[in-house]
Amino acid sequence: AEERTTALLDGLNTEQREAVLHEGSPLLIVAGAGSGKTRVLTHRIAHQLAAHRVRPPEVLAITFTNKAAAEMRERVEALVGPAARAMWVSTFHSACVRILRREASTLGLRSSFSIYDSADSQRLLTLVARELNLDPKKYPAKALSSKISNLKDELVDAETYASTSGAASGAANEFDETLAAVYTRYQARLRQAHALDFDDLIMTTVNLLQAFPAVAEHYRRRFRQILVDEYQDTNHAQYVLVRELAGWHGEEQGSDGRALPPAELTVVGDADQSIYAFRGATIRNILEFEADYPQARTILLEQNYRSTQTILSAANAMISRNPDRRPKRLWTDSGAGPQIVGFVADNEHEEARFVAEEIDRLGDSDGVRPGDVAVFYRTNAQSRALEEVLIRVGLPYKVVGGTRFYERREVKDAVAYLRAIANPDDDVNLRRVLNVPKRGLGDRSEAMVAGFAERERISFGAALDRADEAPGLGSRALTGLRAFGELMSGLRELADSGAGPAEVLGAVLDRTGYLAELRASEDPQDASRVDNLAELHAVATEFEQAEPEGDLADFLERVSLVADSDQIPTEDGAEEAQARADQGVVTLMTLHTAKGLEFPVVFVTGWEDGTFPHMRSLADPDQLAEERRLAYVGLTRARQRLYISRAAVRTAWGVPNEFPASRFLDDVPEELVDWRRRESSMDTLRGSGSGWGGGASAWGGRGGGSRSTGPRSGPVKRSTTAPATGGATFGSATPRPAGEVPSLEVGDKVTHDAYGVGTVVAVEGGGANAVAKIDFGADGTKRLLLRYSPVTKL
Ligand code: ATP
Ligand code: MG
Repeated sequence: AEERTTALLDGLNTEQREAVLHEGSPLLIVAGAGSGKTRVLTHRIAHQLAAHRVRPPEVLAITFTNKAAAEMRERVEALVGPAARAMWVSTFHSACVRILRREASTLGLRSSFSIYDSADSQRLLTLVARELNLDPKKYPAKALSSKISNLKDELVDAETYASTSGAASGAANEFDETLAAVYTRYQARLRQAHALDFDDLIMTTVNLLQAFPAVAEHYRRRFRQILVDEYQDTNHAQYVLVRELAGWHGEEQGSDGRALPPAELTVVGDADQSIYAFRGATIRNILEFEADYPQARTILLEQNYRSTQTILSAANAMISRNPDRRPKRLWTDSGAGPQIVGFVADNEHEEARFVAEEIDRLGDSDGVRPGDVAVFYRTNAQSRALEEVLIRVGLPYKVVGGTRFYERREVKDAVAYLRAIANPDDDVNLRRVLNVPKRGLGDRSEAMVAGFAERERISFGAALDRADEAPGLGSRALTGLRAFGELMSGLRELADSGAGPAEVLGAVLDRTGYLAELRASEDPQDASRVDNLAELHAVATEFEQAEPEGDLADFLERVSLVADSDQIPTEDGAEEAQARADQGVVTLMTLHTAKGLEFPVVFVTGWEDGTFPHMRSLADPDQLAEERRLAYVGLTRARQRLYISRAAVRTAWGVPNEFPASRFLDDVPEELVDWRRRESSMDTLRGSGSGWGGGASAWGGRGGGSRSTGPRSGPVKRSTTAPATGGATFGSATPRPAGEVPSLEVGDKVTHDAYGVGTVVAVEGGGANAVAKIDFGADGTKRLLLRYSPVTKL
């Protein structure tokens, strides 16, 4: 044992070793990317276990993704054996779900409570807003949802908000008042449905621990080692949760007088990698850790073991431009390595081709396998162009992160059925599937039942069972409701009889006729829907095999945690990607999802002002700083080779937009980059036409024949002397200057050189990026980027 304990310290530098051996007071490890923070956490756990300072069930390790959790469990298991399985290694959300399931009765919750993802919660908010007669334009569900989410991140519950917002203090602000009403009612509805939304998972656990000292004591006795990775991205609620669990309150005795010293708390993070401020994460937690825990010890790590000096220099130069940061000295002794390769493409398709060709070339020349390569982008939508090219050239790839799969309608429908089966009071999901597939139970019937439920103060599900008593329902509707009720109770019986999630799902798809309807359809999209449902069934089957004891509620819990896009990119996401990466698959992912990972070869694409940094951050210094941290995260994922590329023209929503170079490129020292091409070539642009092909063509009315490519009548020329980096402006030649773009409103009449007279039916954006949807009668409705379109207002 002695030997093993010592061996765990090999492969660590002096500071890392100190961190592993530290005992007692809280420990903060702050260090730049790739300096071994995560490695220290893993080794610390393993060492503490091997030295018998702690037993596996006493360990709680919080990671940011399920992938990271699995990896940590695996690594610790490799170091100390299967006993490691008794540790809790999970994300914040998963840990809270575990606690809440156990303690549900204390809170008067059913232990099979539902977890609403953001789509579910928006649906519920839509219902609530409708009940309160709110104008959906003024109070869109999405906005309400993000406000409420922010409040929960700050641990402000509905009552507190109602009593402290302007609403109560007399400073009557209509918005606050409305939000307070919505929040209160939304919580009541969740409660009634035995459901928690994502943010509730954390807030409710904090409430539980604060309101029930016995429960808090139970977990404090249990968890003696608490470790948190990526601490810079914890929000206030998560911060308080950790504090409650660790018990750093000063008192060191339990209720029975037995000693209860605080747990050992280790947090690691990097303020420069805080990329979730928009969801309430606050680097304040890391900056003020020492203030909050005066006894804390801080250890800095300065050696980077991941990247070459070239990559590190670029990343350091980039992040050093952010204001208000503590300067860091991050160094490596792994040598300069190859230069960073830069490429400016004409459009996103060419950029994708460049990426694919390079991967191919590296394979031939350096033996790089596809699995060594990751391609990052700022937003999910950017993956499509890359995917198309990779498919065409036959490079295997995997898209990681994003909600994709679980966001698809048919998958959501099927999951909604399962949720409504597992929890009869789950109104949102029950209402979602009431008329899916169509069974003559339209909005009117739904409203009748909902009204009845409201008056009787019962759940929608309970009201369905008593539909006979509900006034105003016709006999057809009643028959339909009864049939639906029988369908659901039959499915519930099946689930209660011990059938696994896959069998229940199969029954749902068959008995509802959902699958039959899709199969009968001629629409090719429905064929892929069938595939997706098959995939979901495969997920359920895999789950049954992995967790033979797991029931429907367990499966749904897994699905909820997986389905949340950014916070928990998992199974379908990073975890599986990593597994397949081992077999050689190119990984595509957003920059947010890439956090904590590393790859030998990394492509960071889309370096354009408006793409990355993101359009909405350009005018806001705080958001711009966050985008820059995201850039730092992206660059520092690379171990040996780093590529940076941009497209001069990128098509979004069917409209090609010209973008200037990302201002971040200015921060990368010239000598570090080998620019294979510094600016897009007009010839390629004209010749290939791929950027314009489908471009601003008909949006509403398919095709439009030979005249479909509107912008061709106003060809784009770009100054060929524009510098590749920085300072570039939007195209300088034929496109009209922003000031001359016609300012249009819905209803305006216009003429177009090719389509003739039309009527504006919608306008988006403004100035240089204004887009109008114009109805040209027989020529169909076109969506046009005004700056490039020969459109004149009449
Ligand atoms: P990030 O900030 O990106 O999360 P990190 O600080 O968590 O990075 P790790 O992922 O723990 O860094 O380590 C980066 C890489 O360096 C890993 O491959 C790790 O195994 C390796 N590494 C860390 N410390 C050492 C060491 N002392 N000797 C050799 N390799 C090390
Ligand atoms: Mg890490």
